Amino acid sequence: MNAYWLSRDRLDALLEALKRRGYRVIGPVMREGLPTLAPLERARDLPWGVEARAAPGRYEVREDAPKARAFDFVLTPQGWKRLLFPPERLLFRVRRTDLGYEVTTPDPEAEPPLALFGVRPCELRAIQIHDRVLSQGPFADEAYTARRRAAFIVVVQCTRSLETCFCASVGTGPEAREGFDLALTEVTDGFVVVSGSFKGADLLQEMDLPEATEAQQREAREAVARAARSQRRRLDPQGLRDLLYGNLESPLWQEIGERCIGCGNCTMVCPTCFCTTVEDGSDLSGREAWRIQRWDSCFSVEYAYIHGGSIRRSVASRYRQWLTHKLAGWQDQFGTLGCVGCGRCIVWCPVGIDLTEEVARFREQHAAVAAQEEQP
Ligand code: SF4
Ligand code: SF4
Repeated sequence: MNAYWLSRDRLDALLEALKRRGYRVIGPVMREGLPTLAPLERARDLPWGVEARAAPGRYEVREDAPKARAFDFVLTPQGWKRLLFPPERLLFRVRRTDLGYEVTTPDPEAEPPLALFGVRPCELRAIQIHDRVLSQGPFADEAYTARRRAAFIVVVQCTRSLETCFCASVGTGPEAREGFDLALTEVTDGFVVVSGSFKGADLLQEMDLPEATEAQQREAREAVARAARSQRRRLDPQGLRDLLYGNLESPLWQEIGERCIGCGNCTMVCPTCFCTTVEDGSDLSGREAWRIQRWDSCFSVEYAYIHGGSIRRSVASRYRQWLTHKLAGWQDQFGTLGCVGCGRCIVWCPVGIDLTEEVARFREQHAAVAAQEEQP
């Protein structure tokens, strides 16, 4: 893969090239003091000099970091999920007419294609998981599939990790190797850029960038390796499925259920959670009705409503459902973990529940029980 050199002053040329191709460019910009994904018009709107700090239940932003860097915030609070798979989607609308009724459905193909600028490697992996679930499964989501097919993905490799990141341990970052159109790595004076698709290669050819020097490429590699080494949190995928399935009746679930308030934040910010519900509505005149699809959460009582009542009435049972599905059930269903190690559920949990710590406690408990059983 040839590596090219994109100086900071050519970032605007890259954005212009994307717009000329008809893309609506979405990227990180500052909104109300937070890096947020929104239309990105010019390179100067990127969060230059913004550094985020994260911890369980905490997210802080400092705006006094070196102004020469645009991607040290690492992760925005909300990820790309809401762009490709919006929280609410109109499925159809029915209007009464003089002759009967008329049904309209939105056409996702009519939307301008999106260029997602600044996708992190773990987030790209989450998109690839959604591709499998929402596009390649037996119940494909047409709107997601259309948006995804048309999208152009610009990855930014991570040269800094948040305290809550653990992508290195689950093999989803801090470097993306495939599945993007372009991948940028931010170094001292600019970006090393590689293409990962024909669309990406074509765009780079148009920009006529110089090749990156060996020193620039080495700096990029070392920065990504440093980001991986700096991660302290780990989630060891080894034996995880059997560990959780083997501990469904553990008292630890009850203990977590006493801390968890069942707010569902973890599912809303998780880039891989994909559950939805369907709701019908109508106007007061009775002339118009509609059906929408909305994100749902396995932390809501209604989510597990089956004729006559909910089958998961306690918070402990709902947390158990979330964690065992994400880390065990997904492996059976989709051949992958449902966690890409972004750490958002840790940051945005109001009581700071950390799934890496909870899994570690299950491992400890399991090891203690096994040791006891081995005693003569
Ligand atoms: S479970 Fe948590 S750490 Fe894993 S992908 Fe979802 S939000 Fe990120
Ligand atoms: S684990 Fe945290 S974020 Fe998730 S439902 Fe419980 S309290 Fe809310």
